[in-house]
Amino acid sequence: MTRFAMVIDTKTCIGCGDCVVACKTENRVPDGLNRDWVVEATRGKYPQLETEFRSERCNHCSNATCVTLCPTGASHYWAGTNIVLVDPDMCTGCKACIAACPYDARLVMHPDGYVDKCTFCHHRVQEGLDPACVSSCPTRCMHFGSLDDPSSEVSRLLKTRKYKVLAPETGNEPNVYYLI
Ligand code: SF4
Ligand code: SF4
Ligand code: SF4
Repeated sequence: MTRFAMVIDTKTCIGCGDCVVACKTENRVPDGLNRDWVVEATRGKYPQLETEFRSERCNHCSNATCVTLCPTGASHYWAGTNIVLVDPDMCTGCKACIAACPYDARLVMHPDGYVDKCTFCHHRVQEGLDPACVSSCPTRCMHFGSLDDPSSEVSRLLKTRKYKVLAPETGNEPNVYYLI
């Protein structure tokens, strides 16, 4: 299995939201809905407080509860990878996956009646391109690649920088990493 990861540098993210716009354009996300979003958090201890911006989306978990709990098989892993997709034709809109996701990554109910979310732009990945959000970032704070390749940029960054993942205690094994 190929394990794809996104590595996002919170030290250089400026919270501009270009990733959100790029995703909407690339994936024709309907008005009022988003597959990614930017969180503004505070880190550090008073008086040394800093603002942390985090571009968030589906974590393409290696142990995804949304896949396990989808009753129809609509939520599935893409072709021997950890990329989690939804087959719109198999999705009944029951929303079991929305309840199952600890990251609120599936808030999107497409007007056509299926649950939508980030796909890690697998249509671009299969062409050898980075996801649209990664390509659009003006500060180049987002990186994408395979953790199976020790020479990939994502592997190198995780070897050399401090990082965190969100809610590791859930056991979902998320694959979006934040450099801190
Ligand atoms: Fe599923 Fe949520 Fe993990 Fe994405 S973040 S793979 S929607 S459990
Ligand atoms: Fe599966 Fe669709 Fe139900 Fe989600 S809403 S659990 S993808 S059938
Ligand atoms: Fe949107 Fe693609 Fe980025 Fe996911 S990887 S947030 S689908 S642009």
